[in-house]
Amino acid sequence: MIVIKGIAASPGIAIGRAYVVEDEDIVVERVEIPRDKIKEEVRRFKTAQKATHRDLDAAEIKVLKVLGKHHAKLIDAHRLILKDSLITHDVPKRITEEGVNAEFALSEALEQVNRQFERMEDEFFRERRHDLFDVGKRLLLHLMKRQKRSLSDIDEECILISRNLLPSDTMGLKETKIIGFATDLGGKTSHTAILAQSLEITAVVGLSDVSRRVKTGDTVILDGEQGLVIINPGPETVAKYEKVQQRSVAEERSLETLKGLPTVTLDGRAFKLEANLDSPEELKSVVALEVDGVGLFRTEYLFLNRTEAPSEEEQVKAYSAAVKALGDREVIIRTADIGGDRLSTLGIEGPKNESNPFMGLRGVRLFLRHLDLFKTQLRAILRASLKGKVRVMIPMVSAVGEVLAARRLLEQARAELAAEGVVFKEDLELGIMVEIPSTAILLDAFLPHVDFVSIGTNDLIQYTLAVDRINENVTHLYDPYHPAVITLLDSIVRAAHAKGKWVGVCGEMTSDPRAVPLLVGLGVDAMSISPRMFLRVKQTIRGLKHESMKRLVVKALACAESDEVRRLLEQNP
Ligand code: PEP
Ligand code: MG
Repeated sequence: MIVIKGIAASPGIAIGRAYVVEDEDIVVERVEIPRDKIKEEVRRFKTAQKATHRDLDAAEIKVLKVLGKHHAKLIDAHRLILKDSLITHDVPKRITEEGVNAEFALSEALEQVNRQFERMEDEFFRERRHDLFDVGKRLLLHLMKRQKRSLSDIDEECILISRNLLPSDTMGLKETKIIGFATDLGGKTSHTAILAQSLEITAVVGLSDVSRRVKTGDTVILDGEQGLVIINPGPETVAKYEKVQQRSVAEERSLETLKGLPTVTLDGRAFKLEANLDSPEELKSVVALEVDGVGLFRTEYLFLNRTEAPSEEEQVKAYSAAVKALGDREVIIRTADIGGDRLSTLGIEGPKNESNPFMGLRGVRLFLRHLDLFKTQLRAILRASLKGKVRVMIPMVSAVGEVLAARRLLEQARAELAAEGVVFKEDLELGIMVEIPSTAILLDAFLPHVDFVSIGTNDLIQYTLAVDRINENVTHLYDPYHPAVITLLDSIVRAAHAKGKWVGVCGEMTSDPRAVPLLVGLGVDAMSISPRMFLRVKQTIRGLKHESMKRLVVKALACAESDEVRRLLEQNP
């Protein structure tokens, strides 16, 4: 039995027969092209480009059918690569200037970019090179007139093992009997990992040499919780993992009984329990959870992976669908928080090449530079509000002036719609995310201008502790239990309640059952949770006593270190 440790990319346990796909190495030879044949060679390359565009169109239809519109945007990202000057300009230039065949010119260009990608420190961007190779490989196969290997030919239940899996390969997995995959390459934020989670396929990546160590037919266990691959496990290990599998299925099933029950502590304190919505594809499952509302509708998905901003109509449609699906329950629509790691491809000024994008032009700061984008979104939200119970929320607020500017723009949007005779909801409430320490510290000054606040713990922790939330070198310092964080949370809740304002929390801290007792003790009004953890958190809250948690928070506020807070939480289950 061999155990290899990698990166847990998509949760779950999969046990089955391995199917190893060999990496089809494409050998590209350098061929000199005579001067009089250069134009023809460039034409041959352009024909391959067109064929690749057709491939992407076909892939888009398939993805739309299986995964929906959100994921189909990945294809847009591939189209952008295909239209990039690296492909459209550099390759023909190399063919012409160096007098070489198209395959060679293309692979040289790709290699040069690969070297640049490898030097990038940001994992998210480093991972984007797989998208580039996906497109490059399609182009090469067209030039060589070969068919791309199709995983849909695998018709047995198995665990796929390969050196790498491209996003386009991953999209097709839903149609196969593949129950999980393990790869040598890959990181947690790659498109492949993101897709595996959406498809609910267990995945472990970044295993360095798993594709050489496993043979087709071997029994393997994929542990998508711990990031492990176990090759040829003994019967005892298989039995142990089968038990874990059964337990988690049984647990999930028992949680179902909590649907529709109120979220109330043992001593009778009720909490509003809402879900975060990141894309329209999640809408159905969020509604099925019988949530009290959507406490954070992240609208960035509408703006990313595309070159033009979404129109007002497109936005009205997207927001109305969510608002209608939630019926009489509230939906807090957050205006787009573009910037940070959510880089825009819209071609607008900034945030490009910022050396510190999380401290840069992000959220409301970016939108106040692009008032057209901001106003269009506010108009769309005002119009969608007619369909149900909507509130609007502004992200990344650090100064009162930003709230006043957002309010003025909302007034302008209202006046415009009224003048145009377009119907909309008159009394839309406006709130802010409290996720920057300056806003938390000076909340009293913001409160007269807002109807509610929602704490974004993801960013609040990052900015309070000076820990980049996506930098793997400092993950050990990213700490929701830090007494400074708890002190700040406490002061936000107190300040807001003293002025009779509603306080929600929508960061990932709400999705961690170990941290939720603190939020209960702090007395927040609502928590908005990632759908996967919704019922589990509800179960946790229903087992707590509010009065005991209040006492726990008093003790936590007197701690000097997070380990002390952790110990308190362990002692007060
Ligand atoms: C947060 O910062 O906690 C939050 C919910 O916003 P996001 O994760 O989208 O930055
Ligand atoms: Mg945030």
